[in-house]
Amino acid sequence: MLESAVRGNRLPATELYPILGTMRASDLLHPRPEGLYCPPGDFFIDPVRPVDRALITHGHSDHARSGHRSVLATQQTLDIMGLRYGEDFAGTTQAARLGETIALNSVSVSFHPAGHVLGSAQISVEHQGMRIVASGDYKRRKDATCATFEPIRCDVFITEATFGLPVFRHPPDTEEIARLLKSAAQFPERSHLVGAYALGKAQRVMRLLRDAGYDRPLYIHGALARLSEYYQSQGIDLGTLEPATVEGAKDDFTGAIVVGPPSAFADRWARRFPDPISCFASGWMRIRQRAKQGGVELPLIISDHADWDELTATIKETGAEEIWVTHGREEALVRWCELEGIAARPLHLVGYEDEGD
Ligand SMILES: [Zn+2]
Repeated sequence: MLESAVRGNRLPATELYPILGTMRASDLLHPRPEGLYCPPGDFFIDPVRPVDRALITHGHSDHARSGHRSVLATQQTLDIMGLRYGEDFAGTTQAARLGETIALNSVSVSFHPAGHVLGSAQISVEHQGMRIVASGDYKRRKDATCATFEPIRCDVFITEATFGLPVFRHPPDTEEIARLLKSAAQFPERSHLVGAYALGKAQRVMRLLRDAGYDRPLYIHGALARLSEYYQSQGIDLGTLEPATVEGAKDDFTGAIVVGPPSAFADRWARRFPDPISCFASGWMRIRQRAKQGGVELPLIISDHADWDELTATIKETGAEEIWVTHGREEALVRWCELEGIAARPLHLVGYEDEGD
């Protein structure tokens, strides 16, 4: 209709722009109770309730839920959802290849690496010359367990803000792993229990240990087994992994490094290990109080989210004129954008408490 109106009026090209420009970014994507919704494409991104068509950025449980009629995601995210929820987690699934453009009604979508966990992707949504990129969760650091984040030029960039305060500056992960190995060498008779989220963080910690030259078996809690096996099947070498169960164990875990989900260290399972040193790999370990409260003796500041410097650098690299900030510390990042002369607003999406910080 727009086209014929324009043609009928024989407007010169320069006068087309105000007409085409009448589409606002919020017409292309806006929050609904179910999640971010795209009306012209009729789909949701990372919906928190069951919907007809879901596009999913990554496999963490707050972003990837079961029960949608159809799911479009990377093959690895689909595989991870299948491992976590069972093969019938959605009515139908479609795998998106990174960089490939897929048409959904009149909207072009494409998936690009987010550097967060294996399979994680940003989703670019393009319609009538406007491009919005929903980054999901992301980080910029090198991580041998997933593809590196690629900045995508866009009009509107939707960023997370889990660590959106200047106090959050993550140290190099190699330094943190070196502290763990130093402690293990210093206390050879004790075991080290490393709390790490089951998807992404655990495998990254194990891979970092291997890259630092640690070649003894790593002992893992049962909750990590299938995901770690999947990572290995995708070519991410984690070395020898043994179940951290007393029954049938080859040794008594003296000097062992044991990796498990943080929740496991609060229950009886953890009490079987000899004189354990409790460690926790998370960006939150920057806050000493938080480590203390959790009874963490050796906090390891290793995060799968962008820190303050990564957030602000990424916003600039996208060239976006407008930033939408979601889940986390929105206010500080919105304020930073305003001081930089970039329009910004919080999206106030609910339901995202990342399991992989
Ligand atoms: Zn996540």
